[in-house]
Amino acid sequence: MASKLRLYNTLNRRLEDFEPIEPGHARIYTCGPTIYDYPHIGNYRTFLFEDILRRTLRVLGFEVTQVQNLTDVDDRTIQRANENGISLREFTDPFAKAFFEDLETLRVEPAEHYPRATEYVPEMVEIIKRLEAEGHTYRSEGSIYYRISTFPAYGKLSGIKPEKNLAGARIDVDDYEKDDARDFVLWKAPKEGEPVWETDLGPGRPGWHIECSAMAMALLGETFDIHCGGVDNIFPHHENEIAQSEGATGCGFARYWLHAEHLVVEGEKMAKRVGNFFTLRDLIDKGFDPLVVRYLLISVPYRQRLNFTFDGLHAAEQAIDRIANTLRRLENTPPVAGDGDLAQADIDAFDEDFRAALGDDLNTARALAALHNLLRVVNTALDGGGIGQAGRQALDGAFAGADSVLAIFPKGKSDAGADAEIDALIEERAAARGNRDFARADAIRDELAAQGISLEDTPHGTVWHRE
Ligand code: AMP
Ligand code: ZN
Repeated sequence: MASKLRLYNTLNRRLEDFEPIEPGHARIYTCGPTIYDYPHIGNYRTFLFEDILRRTLRVLGFEVTQVQNLTDVDDRTIQRANENGISLREFTDPFAKAFFEDLETLRVEPAEHYPRATEYVPEMVEIIKRLEAEGHTYRSEGSIYYRISTFPAYGKLSGIKPEKNLAGARIDVDDYEKDDARDFVLWKAPKEGEPVWETDLGPGRPGWHIECSAMAMALLGETFDIHCGGVDNIFPHHENEIAQSEGATGCGFARYWLHAEHLVVEGEKMAKRVGNFFTLRDLIDKGFDPLVVRYLLISVPYRQRLNFTFDGLHAAEQAIDRIANTLRRLENTPPVAGDGDLAQADIDAFDEDFRAALGDDLNTARALAALHNLLRVVNTALDGGGIGQAGRQALDGAFAGADSVLAIFPKGKSDAGADAEIDALIEERAAARGNRDFARADAIRDELAAQGISLEDTPHGTVWHRE
């Protein structure tokens, strides 16, 4: 892997070389799910971009410390728990469990920390006390608000500056209009039906934005390297995180801010509120392999919108089949003596392309194109003079390197029983042909074709693949 990684930093609106504060160690905070329901695949687009980021960093030799929070107390979780008549914890636990199951199904490499907001309330209270001491807050009717006019850098991430005539206008809800900078709530006064914490600030519960500042600083330090989320997090959530954290500490919060564009359906952001969503489970129920979903969601570079369609899913399915077929062909074809038709230069060209693609702001589309190009070279070699032992080894290394970032290669022989039967039939066909029993040989070919298996007679024997 090349050592250079260029990332688009929303804060400075340009591509920058990534250099962590501590050489060799990348500290990353990724805003996690609100566990009030099953995440939809739009949420997973963002989480998979973060997975590609951490895997790329690791392949580049960085140690990674990643924090992904679970938002288990906010307006939405409280409302849903109340509707169900159970405690916040009872309500959110099953969705936390489902989230972790989905991550494993999608081959997301686990983060080092998954803090829950409810477990960091003392840390939130400490930050709010520091903000009070620095003169950034005011109280009203038992709630505490951040006065954004006291933080001149407000708007540096999103470009959304407070309007002068709106000074003092405040907002109590967690999420609000995308272009309306207002004083926002840090600590909410107790309310009928809401959980209450008794703290030095008085009774109440945290606002959503302070949660991420507290968990990030507790686990990564006051200043860390990368903060990620979807583009909808830029304002107000991340802008407010900066105001809270830097307002309290007086030093920079995150140095690189990375944001994934949305998964959209007919031009509109996939969202629970709109109803235009699929969960991972919905797609698995429709018969899609989770690997296909992973492939689709990483196939477009994270800073471009990705339009979700079933045609797109089917195209991803074909791409995964192409990988599986090539791997199977390789497994079923012994190496030839000598060099064969796959040269070290082919592997080197792939390595270089693949590295350059990921180093270029995680360009997964280019990385996948490099992989498909290599698959084409491999198939051409198998059609021609075959692949020698050295070529096979180099190829295995290249595939393993690619898959340590992409994680889309089918694992092992899940249908080993079926494969053994196919191999046996192919042997029987070879024997029939040897005996000039062409009727039997053709019958076997037809029988396999009916199962979607096509045969190819090459100079190195018969190979098969699933269509
Ligand atoms: P939430 O559970 O709503 O807090 O969202 C969790 C993460 O998913 C956040 O980083 C959002 O920015 C991201 N997200 C939400 N909707 C989409 C979407 N349609 N496409 C991509 N990311 C999304
Ligand atoms: Zn957050």
